[in-house]
Amino acid sequence: PGAAGGRIQQAKLVLLGDQGVGKSSLALRFVRGQFPEHSEATVGAAFLTQTILVQGQSLKFDIWDTAGQERYHSLAPMYYRGAQAAVVVYDINNANTFNRAISWVRELRQQTAVNTVIVLAGNKADLASEHRAVPTEDARVFAEETGLIFAECSAKSGLAVNEMFMMIAHKIVGKH
Ligand code: GDP
Repeated sequence: PGAAGGRIQQAKLVLLGDQGVGKSSLALRFVRGQFPEHSEATVGAAFLTQTILVQGQSLKFDIWDTAGQERYHSLAPMYYRGAQAAVVVYDINNANTFNRAISWVRELRQQTAVNTVIVLAGNKADLASEHRAVPTEDARVFAEETGLIFAECSAKSGLAVNEMFMMIAHKIVGKH
């Protein structure tokens, strides 16, 4: 239906996952196009915004990072309440972080609206040739069974990061 009337659609996106998996780095890679070499990342990325154009529509992401609060699980529902999208991040070189991601996905499925876009993001793919601990297939099958978008990505190299956010954007805009 032609021009979108100048209205900017807004979407709350939350990042979840164990400390150290690269949540802040992914957000900063997406928003600034850079990998933050000094890992004061988490402190700097508690809240970021990024506006992109998708299907002729401006979409403004409000990105909520857990800012190191992932230890306080009881705070989590405050983060993901009202979110249109959740990116659950694990480190593909660390199996524990994958198990935690699975429990985050289960919690989100139970606690959020059915149309919440959930992404399973296996980060640090740049290290995988030597250190991989989570087979791609295991994550892919879990994602398929659970109806998630799945990507292996790297905040460091930039691999698949923009593509992942674009997939989310298409899903969100496509719904309206
Ligand atoms: P958070 O606690 O989940 O927000 O994780 P951070 O974004 O603070 O990253 C934790 C550490 O992992 C930092 O030292 C980052 O530089 C590093 N890191 C994050 N993403 C990547 C990645 O894709 N590849 C590699 N090699 N290191 C990463």
